[in-house]
Amino acid sequence: MKRRNRRAVIIGGSMSGLFAAALLRRIGWDVDVYERSKVELVGRGAGITTHPELLEALRASGAGMTNLGIEVEKRIALDRTGCVTAEKRLPQILTSWDRLQRLMRETIDESHYHLGHTFERVEQDGDGVRVHFTEGRRERADLLIGGDGIRSSVRAQLAPAIEPIYAGYFIWRGAPNEADLKPQTRESIFPHFTFFIPAHEQVIGYPIAGLNNDLRVGHRRYNFIWYRVATAAQLREMCVDENGQQHEYSVPPPLIRNDLIAGMRAEAQAIMPPQFLDCLDNMRPFFTPIYDFSTPRLVFGRVALVGDAASSSRPHMGFGMAKAGGDAQALAEALASHDDIDAGLAAYDKLRQPIGERVMMHGRKLGTQLGVNLLSEEQRAMSTLLQDPRAMMDWIAVPNFLEDSR
Ligand SMILES: Cc1cc2nc3c(=O)[nH]c(=O)nc-3n(C[C@H](O)[C@H](O)[C@H](O)COP(=O)(O)OP(=O)(O)OC[C@H]3O[C@@H](n4cnc5c(N)ncnc54)[C@H](O)[C@@H]3O)c2cc1C
Repeated sequence: MKRRNRRAVIIGGSMSGLFAAALLRRIGWDVDVYERSKVELVGRGAGITTHPELLEALRASGAGMTNLGIEVEKRIALDRTGCVTAEKRLPQILTSWDRLQRLMRETIDESHYHLGHTFERVEQDGDGVRVHFTEGRRERADLLIGGDGIRSSVRAQLAPAIEPIYAGYFIWRGAPNEADLKPQTRESIFPHFTFFIPAHEQVIGYPIAGLNNDLRVGHRRYNFIWYRVATAAQLREMCVDENGQQHEYSVPPPLIRNDLIAGMRAEAQAIMPPQFLDCLDNMRPFFTPIYDFSTPRLVFGRVALVGDAASSSRPHMGFGMAKAGGDAQALAEALASHDDIDAGLAAYDKLRQPIGERVMMHGRKLGTQLGVNLLSEEQRAMSTLLQDPRAMMDWIAVPNFLEDSR
């Protein structure tokens, strides 16, 4: 007798949810993705560095890599006057959140991607799950996958004690249009992955596609990131918006206080090379506080966590998307190679929990450059090493970093 297809309900319609859906479908599961946003996820405008693990997950999920992004040949470091002080050849494809989301979104049929559905809670009976949504819907499945990001509600129900930890620093970011930049900026930094490293700060830039994945010269954008230290109290003050309202984690970009932006611009004038000042002059900046955490378990009965819901690292390796793809791939492989679902889930947990932990620890190691909470001699030595831009070029967002930390 033919066995009925197994079924997974997936929470979160972003990268890890879509990776999980595509890869489970490939092993014969029925899948449905539920995303709380009522509208398609677009326009987050973030640049994404790619790694071999991400390319492998894209290939395995059937998404392909057509027009994935822009290939840079080398990294350069600037001094305060904008002169190049060091170079490193490192070909790498740089893409954008929008591009990856669109590629993955195309792998799933409309009828299995449900916008406007907010996970509320899950009940388990040993044989499967019953999932309740705030809007009233209920779904029965063999497995619930939590791909609902760093503030996961699925994780909050099953492991409420696990909370993301503030790193003690945040980033100002934005993506000016190539066409708006001065010719000198376009020539000197636009084609490259560029570093400017003042003491305990980092400014990093690289080219990404323009709106609607436009890769034509003159229509692209430059991803700008400025890491800065702020205590939890300072961050709380930054999270008061233009209307005086306090936000918990960050402020929607249009509501960021003008006095905060003006203060940041004034401080930039005092320290930054002209090319990065040009970037700042041509963008509306917004800020993102940096958090990380890991979980001792990724599996709770018939519930599995993937991507940022499972663990999240500081973004110095640019590895979040690759980890989302890698988690989903490992989950599908474990379920395919075990007839018993629980045995497959145990195999997934055993393989990926330590990887999430290791990625998080590696992020902390690279974050020592910011000089926050250095607790050991090893951390202080790493922090000192990373004040040198040449060391930063060797360590930040390099491919295969997991090989080194094995
Ligand atoms: C500043 C910064 C820079 C980064 N740079 C890089 C980089 O260069 N390269 C890289 O690979 N990664 C990078 N990352 C990390 C990357 O963005 C994340 O790892 C990735 O987005 C994780 O995908 P996810 O699908 O797990 O979570 P998310 O993208 O956060 O998606 C979670 C989804 O779940 C939905 N959701 C949440 N709660 C519910 C609910 N209750 N019900 C239904 N849906 C829900 C949300 O609406 C959201 O769409 C960076 C991150 C930051 C903060």
